[in-house]
Amino acid sequence: AEVLGKKGSDLVMNLMKKGKMLAINATLDFDTAASIAEEYNVILEQEEEKDIMEEAFGAEEEEDESKLEERPPVVVVMGHVDHGKTSLLDAIRHSSVTKGEAGGITQHIGAYTVQIDGKPITFLDTPGHEAFTAMRMRGAQITDIAILVVAADDGVMPQTVEAINHAKAAGVEIIVAINKMDKPSANPDRVKQELTEYGLLAEDWGGTTVCVPVSAHTKEGIDNLLEMIILTAEMKELKANPNKKARGAIIEAQLDKGRGPVATVLVQSGTLRVGDPVVAGPAYGRIRAMTDDKGRRVKSAGPSTPVEILGLSEVPAAGDSFYVAANEKQARQLAESVIAKNRETLISQTPQKVSLDDLFNQIQSGNMKELGIIVKADVQGSVEAVRQSLEKLTNEEVRVRVIHGGVGAVTESDVLLASASNAIIIGFNVRPEPAAKAFADEEKVDIRLYRVIYNAIEDIQAAMKGMLDPIY
Ligand code: GDP
Repeated sequence: AEVLGKKGSDLVMNLMKKGKMLAINATLDFDTAASIAEEYNVILEQEEEKDIMEEAFGAEEEEDESKLEERPPVVVVMGHVDHGKTSLLDAIRHSSVTKGEAGGITQHIGAYTVQIDGKPITFLDTPGHEAFTAMRMRGAQITDIAILVVAADDGVMPQTVEAINHAKAAGVEIIVAINKMDKPSANPDRVKQELTEYGLLAEDWGGTTVCVPVSAHTKEGIDNLLEMIILTAEMKELKANPNKKARGAIIEAQLDKGRGPVATVLVQSGTLRVGDPVVAGPAYGRIRAMTDDKGRRVKSAGPSTPVEILGLSEVPAAGDSFYVAANEKQARQLAESVIAKNRETLISQTPQKVSLDDLFNQIQSGNMKELGIIVKADVQGSVEAVRQSLEKLTNEEVRVRVIHGGVGAVTESDVLLASASNAIIIGFNVRPEPAAKAFADEEKVDIRLYRVIYNAIEDIQAAMKGMLDPIY
């Protein structure tokens, strides 16, 4: 209101007209605040919070061209459910193994690399755009090419469209795999026709979208698809500097009973080595061991290589960026900053506890059936008097119930109880202990202090009717 040059009550009225009943000291989310501001011709911009890691390690710098070396493409498979994403990933993995590639049985670590005529391609092993989008939301831009799987007998379906939109939003190249070509009902032309509606025009129709007919079952067209990936990657000239400290993204992570936190990382630039001190979100540690996608122990991993690492202090989230730090101390300090920041965010996002100011809103919205109150007073007689007077306020809409009463100052344990049971605290001729006050602020527990019983009754009554004077 201050910035807009308006009265606070005007904004409250405005919000009320939109069906939002809020107290004058309520906190608005960004979207609500922005839409109100816009009505007064003010554009609200959200301040970008600088990332802890980016501050410590800098954004990925523009590298000197001479330091850059070619790196393998990172590919994700997307498409509608049952169109064959998993089958295709299996077929691709299998095709490289049967060609006598070293290593034999592949391990599932969340990503794998295949060699096509000596050129590697890295596939993310988690099909679907949910995983992909989740990673993007965490700021990890890790894929170069998206294989859009469309079943030739089914055509473009809702999740196909979603996948197209996700891929476009992320700015990744789309290659279409028209799958299930072995089926008699396969109709690749229909697929191509439908794709034109979403801005994807096949190459053989005069467009730029590579469409490859394949069958995950008969393996027809798989080699061709892989060649197309290599070609597309070459055109994109994907490069990275392998000769520096590694950074990249967490692909998968879990807690292993015997081995502790286990994470699959995709190195995006630099080279990761056993013994490196790393930090990934809230997790840090020195890399104890690394295993590649064929289950082999490795000592180092360069750009676009997925490896499973051991040695982290806890389990990071998929999509967290990882960095090799200067030393273990820096890694630990950064992880601790992330933990502290996460905690802050969590507290600020914890739903507001009930306060007298928003009691009426909660009653109106049906969230409140019972108002829990904790009464603290100087003498036992007052506790009982306040309890009885307040409980009498119960009406058809809300039941007023004193869940705890006692003699003495408001303590931390009163606040804890209030917080856990979503109650408010009434102090009668007593004050909160300083620690309890601080704790109540943190937990957003409403503490009201009175010297006259009548005032307490009046306030609760007014709040139940939505007429409480706001406190500034
Ligand atoms: P996803 O949900 O996209 O991962 O699809 P799946 O890989 O699980 O495949 C869904 C179904 O389609 C399964 O029954 C597969 O056996 C079948 N399928 C996948 N690829 C082909 C194919 O090329 N030809 C035929 N005929 N069936 C296929």
